[in-house]
Amino acid sequence: MPVSVLNTETLFLADGGGDLVKRRAIGAYLGLAIGDALGGTVEFLTPSEIRAAYRVHRDILGGGWLRLSRGQVTDDTQMALALGRSILCAGRVDAEAAAAAFSDWMRSKPIDIGNTVRRGIATYRRTGNPESPPSELDAGNGACMRCLPIALATLGSSTAEVDAANRAQAHVTHNNPTSDAGTLCALRMVQTALLGGDRAALAAIAEELVAADPVFDYARKRCENPSGFIVDTLRTVFQSLFATDNFEAAMVDCVNRGGDADTTGAIVGMIAGALYGPWGIPPRWTQHLDREVQLACIEQAQELLKLSPFCVAGQG
Ligand code: MN
Ligand code: MN
Repeated sequence: MPVSVLNTETLFLADGGGDLVKRRAIGAYLGLAIGDALGGTVEFLTPSEIRAAYRVHRDILGGGWLRLSRGQVTDDTQMALALGRSILCAGRVDAEAAAAAFSDWMRSKPIDIGNTVRRGIATYRRTGNPESPPSELDAGNGACMRCLPIALATLGSSTAEVDAANRAQAHVTHNNPTSDAGTLCALRMVQTALLGGDRAALAAIAEELVAADPVFDYARKRCENPSGFIVDTLRTVFQSLFATDNFEAAMVDCVNRGGDADTTGAIVGMIAGALYGPWGIPPRWTQHLDREVQLACIEQAQELLKLSPFCVAGQG
């Protein structure tokens, strides 16, 4: 497949879209890790603190409250990779396998871990049940930040099937309807972008979420310093995605809003990476991303996609 004509409609039509879909999947996975590494530097800072320190934060530098090395990622990318490994090992999305993978990851003494995630994994270790009890309080962004492997492994499935697969991984730690609805929306946006949907198509999916639950309305006021609440997170992500027209602008807009910037960066990264493709990611960001993480992202993107109904049906 000639790489030089990557971006053409001809290629998309000629091979049924499989090669282009694979490249967009790689863009999504690299985008996730890049957003995490870029945003990690400014996580928990306010926009004015970021302005004072960097004017505009636009380079992968490391540092931040976690004292990251340059290009290092955090729990967002690590948990996505752990979930991806569990799917590849089991050959399908499986709650038990996901819970075991998250537990192994927690045993590796990760650089950071959310409270809800820690509690969910601890409960799984104690009870052996991979589904944490429903909780009105657990509407954090921890299930959404790691959901990308679900989008890839279930590409071509019905929305109900994608939702069920996501609940299996999400409910290990976050058994909450607002988290489920927001995460399903993010998954559908990634899948639509993988299949060639444009920004307007993604905005229509966001609008469906807002119509179903107006708390997600992102048009009302500018989000700054977003918390780890899934609603704050996704409103920020939508504002950045829909106010810009390329990967770099969306990412810079997002992380400079501060707050939970590694996670908003990761989610913008996976959606914008699928939307604009890996050719839209500034090379300076890919170059500085941790080498091992970069290779794992590229490999998982391709292997997870191979499991999907989209590829199994021969379209890939
Ligand atoms: Mn993180
Ligand atoms: Mn975070």
